[in-house]
Amino acid sequence: MPHALEKELAAAISAVRCAAKVCRAVAKQLVTAQTLEKKDRSPVTVADYASQAVVCHLLSKSLGDPRIMAEEDSQTLRQNDQAAIRQAVVDHAAAGLGQQATEQQVLGWIDQGGYGKSQDTPPPPDAAFWTLDPIDGTKGFLRGEQYAVALALIEQGKPVLGVLGCPNLTDNNTEGILLTAAVGQGTRVMSLWDDAKPGWPARVTTVSDPAKARFCESVESGHSSHSDAEQIAQRLGITADSLRMDSQAKYAAVAMGHASIYLRLPTSKDYQENIWDHAAGSIVVTEAGGRVTDTNGKPLDFSHGRTLKTNRGIVATNGPIHDHVVDAVGQVLSA
Ligand code: AMP
Ligand code: MG
Repeated sequence: MPHALEKELAAAISAVRCAAKVCRAVAKQLVTAQTLEKKDRSPVTVADYASQAVVCHLLSKSLGDPRIMAEEDSQTLRQNDQAAIRQAVVDHAAAGLGQQATEQQVLGWIDQGGYGKSQDTPPPPDAAFWTLDPIDGTKGFLRGEQYAVALALIEQGKPVLGVLGCPNLTDNNTEGILLTAAVGQGTRVMSLWDDAKPGWPARVTTVSDPAKARFCESVESGHSSHSDAEQIAQRLGITADSLRMDSQAKYAAVAMGHASIYLRLPTSKDYQENIWDHAAGSIVVTEAGGRVTDTNGKPLDFSHGRTLKTNRGIVATNGPIHDHVVDAVGQVLSA
């Protein structure tokens, strides 16, 4: 390995496996038909905080005191009216870890993810730090569809290691998969639940005619413009329906060759993508042989704090069709 990433990779895999178990337990116990009907987001709130707590705690236990830039903090959870949610978070985190945990400990673990919290003082561009989305694709989680636990290590503005836990994604007859990538090492897939089962490599498609490509996009049209995607698909001669999925499972789909393109097309002028929504997914695709840029064809730059503020949208492909796709995206977005 280029540098000692073995220890980091092992720590990240254990942490994501544990977080995924916590999310699955919450989904089984708390997500009911009424949840979606009543638009009750409390199950995903519990899973989100408990997932962040276990990942931060396990990474810190294995790696000393790593810097972690995670999506959540404990501020809201500490409020008086959050007592029931707080208790559920503590219970699920403790059960996932198989140990006792106090409320203060769990709140403290969540806040270990507070690196780079202030946008006014972003980390220095050469800082090494982890970034975590404890549950990416919250709507998918609530619907029982795709969501992901996404963890990546950034060095000098680039992901060097990524681990994506996708509890409801299937590859190679295995439901619940974990994708891991380290720079220069390729991407591997393994069972998320059974760590004794041998893994297998992930490889992007070899499609070189964009018309034959399948593309994936968000379920939520508020997160990525479906109408622009349709026009881009038309320009490229794509006839296959898009694969709509929540979360970074879309990057996983490209990495494993289930699709050849992932388009994330801005729906507003000023939205900045969060780094934890793309760090793990992007290295999983590039190490599987694909390419990832923004909609202008620019490399993603993770050196500006919590968001990709110098990038706009995302284009991830199998590689050979990348320039074609970026051209078509440019034509549609500038029209
Ligand atoms: P997806 O599952 O691909 O739809 O993406 C989920 C992620 O979209 C969430 O984690 C949010 O961080 C992010 N998000 C929220 N609002 C927007 C927006 N307006 N444009 C793009 N992404 C968004
Ligand atoms: Mg997210």
